[in-house]
Amino acid sequence: MRVGDDAGWTAVWHSRIGLRLAASFGALLLLVVVALILCAHAFQSIGRAEREVQAFERARHAADRASLLMREQYIHQAHTLIVFDDTHLDHYRDVVAVASQAIDELRAALATPEDAALVDELEAHRAANHKTFEELTVPAVLRGDRAEAVRLHEDMEKSVVAFSRTVRQLHDRNDARATEARVEMERAWSRAQMAALACLAAALVLGAVMAYLLTRTVVARVAVLRAGAERIGAGDLEHRIRLDARDELGELARAFDTMAEALARREEELVRAQRLASMGQVAAGIAHELNNPLGVILGYVKLLRRRGEWDDDALGVIEQEATLASETVAAMLDLARPLSLKLAEVDLGAILRESVERLSQVERVQGVDVKVVSTAPVIAWADEARLRQVVANLLTNAAEAAAPSGHVEASVHTTGDEVELTVDDDGAGFPEADRRKVTEPFFTTKSHGAGLGLSIVRTLVDAHQGDLGFERSPLGGARVWVRLPAHAASRERLE
Ligand code: ADP
Repeated sequence: MRVGDDAGWTAVWHSRIGLRLAASFGALLLLVVVALILCAHAFQSIGRAEREVQAFERARHAADRASLLMREQYIHQAHTLIVFDDTHLDHYRDVVAVASQAIDELRAALATPEDAALVDELEAHRAANHKTFEELTVPAVLRGDRAEAVRLHEDMEKSVVAFSRTVRQLHDRNDARATEARVEMERAWSRAQMAALACLAAALVLGAVMAYLLTRTVVARVAVLRAGAERIGAGDLEHRIRLDARDELGELARAFDTMAEALARREEELVRAQRLASMGQVAAGIAHELNNPLGVILGYVKLLRRRGEWDDDALGVIEQEATLASETVAAMLDLARPLSLKLAEVDLGAILRESVERLSQVERVQGVDVKVVSTAPVIAWADEARLRQVVANLLTNAAEAAAPSGHVEASVHTTGDEVELTVDDDGAGFPEADRRKVTEPFFTTKSHGAGLGLSIVRTLVDAHQGDLGFERSPLGGARVWVRLPAHAASRERLE
């Protein structure tokens, strides 16, 4: 961009807030500098005028002193004429020397050639007076010529009068110039005041203009930016600030808009990924849960094939397990949605016994000794299908932990308004470091595990407003207990 290029400078001016601020503050600074220069100049004039006034006053005093001594010189002359002898001459001569010195001092106190001419005039009058006295009057007195002395006295008196007139002229000149200097001093004061006031007014106007421009171009836009950023921050990723400005704030607004676009894209991707992940989670859960009934069904089919005949009980179990499998699919789908429980009186003991029996058909845990310790009915207020899921999951985990030839003991009993199911095994027990994680979805230490069994148990127990706990078992492995509302109390707690 060339310096003479007007459009270029305008573009830079509009595109840079910093340039606008620098130019505005520069203008303010310039005003202050101009005010200082004007004031300094005025103070210089005032100082000069003040010095002039002082010099005129010094000259006035010197002129007054010379005039006084001239009078004294004349008084001594008059004294000599009165006593009419030379006894007073020594005093007279002392005064003459001082009077001459006073005129020299007056000359030094004055500067212009006109003043010097007047001082010369004074000296001439004084010298003429002295000469007349010394050279003519004193000899006339010594001769005793009174008539001549009286005539010469008149001449001397005239030179004294002329001296006084010249002193008055000198005074008039000095007074006029002192008055001029004083007037100049006052003018300089008012010039300084005017300059200071003018600069102050200009600074005020400039400040107001700057404040207006800043408010319009910066503060208002910052407010738009803040509002936009707040909307985007609150989650409205479709919002765009669209600030029509070519400066830094415009750049910032465009950066915000780009960020909002990127965030919206990322959110879309995240939602898609989450949807896929939860679909995967549900699918894995379904596969895991279907594994148990399918294992039982397969076990019974093998049994029937070995026997070579149809057995009504075995077919009943196959039917039940197939129903469980279909219910499990529904349950897993339910898990993805909010749970709705079909609550009823359920015998937890019976469910436990049936589940143990079915587990015995699962091939991979067939060497494990699974015992139900208690036999009395224990009634819970629960959703039967969900409860079966809970019991089956806990038994399968315990049997897998105890495999290939360990022991599992399960019991149920009622305590006050709660029923409790306990499953013990003599496996390796829960790893201490991972005890908190075992109910997290997908946590597993098994090569074939999906890590969903205990997370489903946790969800179902929570839905029944029950409790779930993990401990070390007296058998040496893990103990898992579940407490659920018993029949009487559960109506109030769950309905
Ligand atoms: P999965 O059985 O598919 O691994 P679970 O959610 O049922 O998923 O179990 C999660 C983890 O908890 C298991 O991988 C295992 O490490 C641990 N676990 C569960 N039950 C027991 C148990 N009875 N003894 C020892 N560890 C267990």
